[in-house]
Amino acid sequence: MIVGGQEVDSPQRLEVRNPFDGRVIDTVPLASPEHRERAVQIAQGGLRQMRALPAHERGAILLGVSRLLAEHAEETANLIAMESGKTVPEARVEVARAVQTFLLSAEEARRIHGETVPLEAAPGAEGKFGYYVREPVGVVLAITPFNFPLNLPAHKIGPALAAGCSVIFKPASATPLTGLRLGQMLLECGVPGPAISVLTGSSEVLGDPLVADPRIRKVSFTGSTAVGKHLATIAGLKRLTLELGGNSAVVIMADGDLQAAAERIKVGGYAHAGQVCISVQRVFVQRPVLADFLALLEPLVRGLKAGDQLLPDTDVGPLITEQAALETEQRIQQAVSEGAELVCGGQRKGSVITPAILTNVPEANYLYSEEAFAPLVVVGEFQTLEQAIQMVNSSHYGLQAGIYTRSVDTAFEFARRAEVGGVMVNEIPSFRADLMPYGGVKDSGLGREGVKYAVQEMTELKVVVWNLA
Ligand code: NAP
Repeated sequence: MIVGGQEVDSPQRLEVRNPFDGRVIDTVPLASPEHRERAVQIAQGGLRQMRALPAHERGAILLGVSRLLAEHAEETANLIAMESGKTVPEARVEVARAVQTFLLSAEEARRIHGETVPLEAAPGAEGKFGYYVREPVGVVLAITPFNFPLNLPAHKIGPALAAGCSVIFKPASATPLTGLRLGQMLLECGVPGPAISVLTGSSEVLGDPLVADPRIRKVSFTGSTAVGKHLATIAGLKRLTLELGGNSAVVIMADGDLQAAAERIKVGGYAHAGQVCISVQRVFVQRPVLADFLALLEPLVRGLKAGDQLLPDTDVGPLITEQAALETEQRIQQAVSEGAELVCGGQRKGSVITPAILTNVPEANYLYSEEAFAPLVVVGEFQTLEQAIQMVNSSHYGLQAGIYTRSVDTAFEFARRAEVGGVMVNEIPSFRADLMPYGGVKDSGLGREGVKYAVQEMTELKVVVWNLA
């Protein structure tokens, strides 16, 4: 692992497994409390070094990272596929996105600025001149999940370095290899050593003690809602960005393009075996077109080939562990026992689940109300837009939602009333461009990523007032 820019080993190892067959592909060091303490101490010096770097140098370093990643795209994609279980084409998309995320970070590094404050507009503030500047928030702790082991770290590390912060990064234990490779690339491109640590190991050692540490000024966490809520209770007075779970819905109105919706749901419901926070999980179709829509979607989903993510003809890879697949199988069986109909898929072989469609799933059932994180969609029906909005908003999550309609009025009404962080019109909720503000409401989180917005959250405003009298 990397402690303050230095490669550090440990006799205690963590095994990294291929999710498809459970084969050990590598081991990484398990960080100790001493490693953790050293990383925090060194990061204070790293912060001073980052603050001293002019913006154009921070931008140049980040541009270098973007280019280096692009040069090593294929090898990085293979590493991602091997440890995360996504297919190689899916991993290539992740690398291409991370290239963009670092490019955007390089651009934003050059744009951080404040503005003047019109103090004389306030009675009693005459004769004063004010402005504010943006300063780096301090040492940033970045914690990321297994499902995007490159681009989610990029969304935290890129903006943090752009803002002049130092970073301690803890990748998910299932996927630490990509994170370590990224750490090496950052150093190769000139990030000052003390400004970057990549610590691998258990969340007992690297989770709560780091999150609660007052020397860390910002925690940027992406992961499950349960862990995010826990971190919020122990973080104390520090900045917090929480990108958490979801069970995104898409509404298909009778006047919508059913073919387009079905083709996009085939992607958004099953990419990375549904292990995407904005995976399409709930599909609500207006009653008159429900049968037509299912007739379009079912053959598309049946045509997806599930299996070994490293084989070129695989569309849907494994879940991250066999245990996760086992839980999904049980949840499908439970839904069926409660009256749901399994239209297709849902069969388990090892850690692979065949792509599934379920209908008539009761609202209280887990697959409707919680996050499935598996290759399945639940299709329900509604009669009026009002009902559809209520169904979307009945969730305790609120990440993104989509609607298919040819009516501008309907789309506006939906966009205005959907309780989510992002609304996609004639698009699935799984759409994300790395420059757009991204994040959730309700149990889906706090704060926004999307490089420009993440940079804002990595900076603190300082106001300066001059008395001119
Ligand atoms: P997770 O179990 O919450 O783990 C996420 C990260 O948190 C891992 O690095 C994990 O470390 C660490 N962690 C676990 N317990 C911790 C603690 N007590 N203190 C500090 N860190 C702790 O989530 P996951 O299963 O890897 O990922 C799936 C979840 O991420 C889903 O809910 C998904 O929706 C969400 N997600 C959200 C977004 C978004 O942008 N909103 C994007 C992607 C994923 P270990 O691996 O060592 O346990």
